[in-house]
Amino acid sequence: MSVPETVPFADLYAQYLTIKPEIDAAMAEVIRASAFIRGPFVDAFEREFSEILGVPHCVSCANGTDALYIAMHALGVKPGDEVITSAHSWIATSETITQAGGKVVFCDTDSDTFTIDPARIEEKISPRTVGIIPVHLYGQPADMPAIMAIAARRGLWVLEDCAQAHLARCGGRSAGSFGVAAAFSFYPGKNLGAMGDAGCVLTADSEMAERMAMFARHGGLKKGDHRMEGINSRLDGMQAAVLSVKLRRLPFWTAARRRLAAVYDKALDGLSGLELPEVSAGREHVYHLYVVRHPRRDELKKYLADRGIETIINYPVALPFLPAYSRLGARPGDFPNAYRHQSMVLSLPMFPEMAEAQQTRVIEAIRAFCK
Ligand SMILES: *Cc1c(COP(=O)(O)O)cnc(C)c1O
Repeated sequence: MSVPETVPFADLYAQYLTIKPEIDAAMAEVIRASAFIRGPFVDAFEREFSEILGVPHCVSCANGTDALYIAMHALGVKPGDEVITSAHSWIATSETITQAGGKVVFCDTDSDTFTIDPARIEEKISPRTVGIIPVHLYGQPADMPAIMAIAARRGLWVLEDCAQAHLARCGGRSAGSFGVAAAFSFYPGKNLGAMGDAGCVLTADSEMAERMAMFARHGGLKKGDHRMEGINSRLDGMQAAVLSVKLRRLPFWTAARRRLAAVYDKALDGLSGLELPEVSAGREHVYHLYVVRHPRRDELKKYLADRGIETIINYPVALPFLPAYSRLGARPGDFPNAYRHQSMVLSLPMFPEMAEAQQTRVIEAIRAFCK
């Protein structure tokens, strides 16, 4: 009896197999050098990542959540400060505002790109507002020119959440090069993923880079010299070595994601009830996730699961409506787009190694459902 074929949401092992000799060699080198925490492999990756993004300083740390927290700590967020962020994201974006001592202020997304709606930002600004954290959700940059214009006019900093947007571009510029700093995650499933936790902050501000590096390493860059109290959030050599190998493939993998997205776009266009991802002019999407909308999303998800096709909901509850934020007392009408999208979004299988036959299976199943 043949085992029914399934289509996974992503396949990290398939990716490893394409680069196995290089990864295995890189790991062996780290072990041979006993360069487990920081060290030459970490320095090399920081240099390479900073170069490919075109932002002068890269401060690596333990994960993307710490990257957001470390950046906000360096920006001097203090009790009572308000930080505006998108109602539609992963909780790391907003929980780190609280961690840093600030107050979370959510702003609705626009109706098509799932990114913060610049037209709704100004009404959220109060005398206590200090900054804005746009999220380049699913891999599409937020409307950075509009956001930067508001921030400049109102004297606010901008911290970009780039966890899903490695190599994305907006108006020809890298996502991560607009704000005073940008936080990246290298969680295994991200477009550039380690084999464990990893993250970094990019910034053009050398003084801020030094403060962030110190804070992440117990408040000092030299043994025994603690300029302040800090935290322990370091990148390890093994992850850095893996990331250096994978970074060389990232442009190629990004192109593969775009090709797969183009195939979905064409094959799923015009199906009844189905809305495809929309990309705004001037924005280069990197398709960390390929997210469709359907009014009967839960039925569609089950229909695909029954046919061996794995999908994910990113995210089933928008941030303001999570129990973690019940203190804010959000009502659906306060964030109409984020609220509407939470029951409609569905992320389809998307990974650079996805075979044509796998994608065809997904397409045919969705077509059958929408008939
Ligand atoms: C993954 C992610 C983070 C956090 O990154 P970790 O490395 O998992 O801590 C932050 N923001 C967004 C939007 C993410 O998707």
